[in-house]
Amino acid sequence: MPNPESIVKKLASFKHRGAATQNEPLVLDYLQSIFSDKTVSLEAFKTPKTYISVVWWLISGLVVGLVSSNLIPFLGVVITCFFTTFALLYFNWYASPVTKFPPRVTSHNLIVKNGVMNTPKSKKLILMAHYDTAPISFLYTPQMVGNFRKSLRFSLILMVIAEFIVIVQFINQNIIFSYLSYILATYFLIQGITATVDFFRLGYSNGASDNATGVAAAIETANRLWDKNLKDVDVELVLTGAEEVGMIGARDYFLKHAKEFTKETYLINFDTLGNGNLKVITQTGSWSNIIYDNRIIQSAKEIISQDTDLQHITTGAWHTADFDSVWFLRAGVPCVTLAALDTNGRMPNIHRPTDTFENVDFKPMNDAIQLAEQIALKL
Ligand SMILES: [Zn+2]
Repeated sequence: MPNPESIVKKLASFKHRGAATQNEPLVLDYLQSIFSDKTVSLEAFKTPKTYISVVWWLISGLVVGLVSSNLIPFLGVVITCFFTTFALLYFNWYASPVTKFPPRVTSHNLIVKNGVMNTPKSKKLILMAHYDTAPISFLYTPQMVGNFRKSLRFSLILMVIAEFIVIVQFINQNIIFSYLSYILATYFLIQGITATVDFFRLGYSNGASDNATGVAAAIETANRLWDKNLKDVDVELVLTGAEEVGMIGARDYFLKHAKEFTKETYLINFDTLGNGNLKVITQTGSWSNIIYDNRIIQSAKEIISQDTDLQHITTGAWHTADFDSVWFLRAGVPCVTLAALDTNGRMPNIHRPTDTFENVDFKPMNDAIQLAEQIALKL
């Protein structure tokens, strides 16, 4: 079994791991080759190739809605209403119909179980990490990323204002609201260009920290626990695709397997462990806060307060996009995401060309492995 650092190195040796690109089968072949003595399955699912097409669907819909409010006001109301709803769902990390719009491609989740046939156990622990990498985005440059949540919230407010404008236009066409509709449409177009231009210039990130480190940590934790052959806990490793599109792989896994979560089920998600200090993430969300407070979180807090090796780990918040664990949290599955943040509460290099192997610090990844292993032993 390769050690975690060599797994990161191997994953980072691919130029990128963009979902459903020509690299995905090569990455999956490598990951499968690690688990010769385990039960491995690949689950295919449909997804947009990147969030770029999703963003442009939403922006085009809003722009067409605003412009048509000056020409065919009723159509303006209907189109704006649909696309505002799709956008509010998508950017608050709920399932949004816009992710079903074309073009759609096929990506895969890789699921690994211990090969040894055992009598069924009373608990199940899912160890999760996404292997895909993200489009490079200008919004993740150091000067922009600090305002990510603020500017997302601002855009969400403007979408609701767009809705208001088209309704006024429908009731009583007037020149001021007509100007406002064009100004708003222009603003959305500029936002779309800012969010996506770097992908067309620079492609996908290498993703050494986001999320080769998470994959390596999940694999290492799973191996340690499989070796221990825990009496009460089935350990399942789930490496997801298309997280960077909008947690699509994790949602597909959740929908396909939620009916099996009849016994006590827990989830530990590993995301971006290559810079800064390890955090037990207790808060995410864009418009409203999504709070993690459950048995796994309590157990993690207990461990870090008692173990002198792990005392430097603290809880943390992350409001720039979200994590694969969000579907499980909303369904009431006790879960946690382990991620590393620097002293400014940021993830350096992510979604940028500098997220490379040379810039990875392995300390938070190794801390995550230790912490996750201890959480599992306390279940
Ligand atoms: Zn990630």
